[in-house]
Amino acid sequence: MKSVRFDGKSIVRIVDVPEPEPGADEVVVATVVSAICGSEMKAHKGDGQANGNPGHEAAGVVERVGANVTGIKVGQRVGASAIAGCGHCSFCARGQYTWCNNYKFYGSMHAEKFVIAARACHLLPDDVPWEVGVLISGDGLGVPYHSSTRMPKDGVDSVAVFGLGPVGLGNVLLQTYLGRRVAAIDLSEYRLDYAMKLGARWPVRAGTPTTVEQILELSAGQGVDIAIEAAGRPETAKQCFAVARKGGTVVFNGEQGELLLSPSDDFIRRDITALGCWFYHFREFGDMLRLYRNGLRVGDLVSHNYPLAEAPEAYAEFAAGRTAKVLLRMQA
Ligand SMILES: [Zn+2]
Ligand SMILES: [Zn+2]
Repeated sequence: MKSVRFDGKSIVRIVDVPEPEPGADEVVVATVVSAICGSEMKAHKGDGQANGNPGHEAAGVVERVGANVTGIKVGQRVGASAIAGCGHCSFCARGQYTWCNNYKFYGSMHAEKFVIAARACHLLPDDVPWEVGVLISGDGLGVPYHSSTRMPKDGVDSVAVFGLGPVGLGNVLLQTYLGRRVAAIDLSEYRLDYAMKLGARWPVRAGTPTTVEQILELSAGQGVDIAIEAAGRPETAKQCFAVARKGGTVVFNGEQGELLLSPSDDFIRRDITALGCWFYHFREFGDMLRLYRNGLRVGDLVSHNYPLAEAPEAYAEFAAGRTAKVLLRMQA
């Protein structure tokens, strides 16, 4: 079967690989769509990936089931949660796979078929199109949704989103839907425009000497209620603290290594709360499905669809900031 391969230094190829076999409690899914995530850029631009590929958001049709699988049948439409809990611990019992001490990460979903734990599959109802199913079972909407559950609910009027890759844009879409006024910050003109189409009120160009000042002005000099770091960069993380109001909240979505913060200046003297959000809880799928059915325009996050054979072009456009969420289509 065909699969994406990262050779490193931004080189993407389509290669032939053996078809995956389902182990016990696993299924093999014939992929219909997989989605490109900003977190893949590190391997894409850097050293590549020797085995498989970093694809971790996909949806398709169950083709084979392994031993012990019950409740999922060949032919059903499913979306995959790339993180599967052990299935036995108290976290797993509550559908919190990301908190399981023995979770397993499933990748290699940029391929014609992929293997996934049966308990990490969401059945996709008939009214959910593929492009929505892949986003509400992956981190495309999963991270913005899970983040929203961790944020304060009351008295939130203004939100600043730093970094308008797919997760940042997902935050723009969801926070706007929740009635908040959103400032969207990025270097890419394309993504600033895209954020406005999703409902952002204020586009702010990143990396200028007045970026922070501009955001403070938009919030009458007081700062925003919530600042979301979705760029994964120390300078934008520092800016999140600079634009958060007294008593405000900083949310970390973008992965990064180390960051210099002052407990006194960044937290204590302004009563700041900072929190992290990783992926989403498996049980939150139903909440996201409800939001979609209530009018959240999840599909609007997708700007481009490419056939698998054109994955090299898809990654080049994504890496250049000329796309929002990008889907690879495995079947016509
Ligand atoms: Zn991701
Ligand atoms: Zn577990």
